[in-house]
Amino acid sequence: MSRRRARPRGPRRASCPSGKVRFRDRIAATLALATIQHDDRPGRPKVEARVYRCPSCAGWHLTSSRPLRR
Ligand SMILES: [Zn+2]
Repeated sequence: MSRRRARPRGPRRASCPSGKVRFRDRIAATLALATIQHDDRPGRPKVEARVYRCPSCAGWHLTSSRPLRR
């Protein structure tokens, strides 16, 4: 006897194959971006980031280009 529970497989929220955080629309992404940029600490290099629409999941992502030099 195997006990089976009604457990739907897979997360309900749409996720992107890229593994990035997905936002439902541009406003949500821009808001998140603003929050990140607001957390600007002194002595830290500014992280350039922008929002873009993903063709894979039809959602919005944040992209940030960090300088890899120390
Ligand atoms: Zn995506």
